[in-house]
Amino acid sequence: MMNPLADRVRQALRAVPNYPKPGIIFQDITPLLADAELMAGVVREMAAPYRDAGVSHILGIEARGFIFGSAMAVEMGAGFIPARKPGKLPWETVRETYQLEYGTDALEAHRDACIGGARVLVVDDVLATGGTAVAAGELVRRLGGDLVGWSFLLELGFLPGRKRLTGAPATSIITLN
Ligand code: AMP
Repeated sequence: MMNPLADRVRQALRAVPNYPKPGIIFQDITPLLADAELMAGVVREMAAPYRDAGVSHILGIEARGFIFGSAMAVEMGAGFIPARKPGKLPWETVRETYQLEYGTDALEAHRDACIGGARVLVVDDVLATGGTAVAAGELVRRLGGDLVGWSFLLELGFLPGRKRLTGAPATSIITLN
């Protein structure tokens, strides 16, 4: 089916081979960010599935999840929660650690980032293996929020990320195979 916005997103992405390490094709979103009309359309489209879901907060994943997530928060009338790499937040945090191919990584949020009963949508640019997104979902639960879903700009369909996201919907504008 023709989807003009999805086609424009595909054209605006710049695939950079072997960044940040050999074998990875990095999807560079900066051409998309620089296109005002496309960016506005993307933010609307990423928010659209959750318009009637009573979202009170968006939890954006450092760093590119901040860009889409904060714009969506304004668009949806929601608050914004930054989920950051360890040691970046100044006050008391909750932390969720997750496995990488080699070693572990973690996401943190301030422990009073949302009140109990908050309805939280997780936002990031790319869904790859899903490790980051699963950890962000767990972080929402630890904060006492209800996880409404996950919204991505794009997902890598050749990786198992989507299968790992359970218990709430996960949406993206395009899938790369
Ligand atoms: P993962 O935990 O494997 O799903 O990785 C997701 C995180 O890594 C997201 O925050 C993405 O921004 C980033 N990421 C993973 N793969 C790519 C890629 N091919 N291009 C750009 N960013 C990526």
